[in-house]
Amino acid sequence: MPEGDTLHRIADALAPRLEGRVLRAIEVPRSDARVRDLVGVSVERVRAYGKYLVIELGCGVSLLTHLRMDGLWHAYEPGARWRRSRGAMRVMLEVEGTVAVCFSAPVVRFVRTRELARLLGPEHLGPDILGESFDVGDALLRLARSPDVPLGVALLDQRRIAGIGNVYKSEVCFHARLSPLARVSTVERAALERLVVLTREVMQDNVAKRRPGADARRHHAPHYLYERDTTLAARRTTPKGCEVGKGPIFVYGRAGKPCFVCGAAIVRTYQGDARRSTYRCPVCQEG
Ligand SMILES: [Zn+2]
Repeated sequence: MPEGDTLHRIADALAPRLEGRVLRAIEVPRSDARVRDLVGVSVERVRAYGKYLVIELGCGVSLLTHLRMDGLWHAYEPGARWRRSRGAMRVMLEVEGTVAVCFSAPVVRFVRTRELARLLGPEHLGPDILGESFDVGDALLRLARSPDVPLGVALLDQRRIAGIGNVYKSEVCFHARLSPLARVSTVERAALERLVVLTREVMQDNVAKRRPGADARRHHAPHYLYERDTTLAARRTTPKGCEVGKGPIFVYGRAGKPCFVCGAAIVRTYQGDARRSTYRCPVCQEG
């Protein structure tokens, strides 16, 4: 399940392989756009915003993809065997030395690059939790606009903050000792601010650890871009002298298993219209 950190890692992995290179081939099976016209066009920039990947091309057109639950981006050497079926391919871009393939993404769109500022702008999306210019004050104002919404639902609302997904939502509420079931208005502003700052820190940590070159042996494994670890948040919030716990994930997917901090059984509930699973410790995250 890709979240903002996954998209930033994908951008980090694809940018050095694609930027400045000319498209030798491109396939977008379900697109109406005349993609063959893009052969010979250069890739100008690869970047992430929230959960979107943006590939800006030299002709004033950008490719926008959103992976939702099951989408993936892989980078291969030309001629290498793909790890997913060709039928699942939604985009294939080939430049010198690299074939970048997006599988199973439900959103694949060509847009005018000059329209990106509006499409990814504040009317549609909150500040990117991993963006360089992320403004915690703006994020808090946007969260405050849904006072009656449970925290676990508000954190997933991309119009409030872009980039947070289901795993980090449960994890950061646990590390901040806040209940995802609590309505936003019942959480003190200072606690909400700590939560948002902690979320940014732990997601930044996950991007940095998996940056190409951070561990050159592993960064070719496509699944590597999709792993997560919230131990940094545990270190930040565990009192000195106490054991940090096992990690790398503390509550997500651990229903019925003992909390690493207090031993109580982790509980799973479903929240929001989309009935997204939320995991929490009923003792550590009272309220
Ligand atoms: Zn607990």
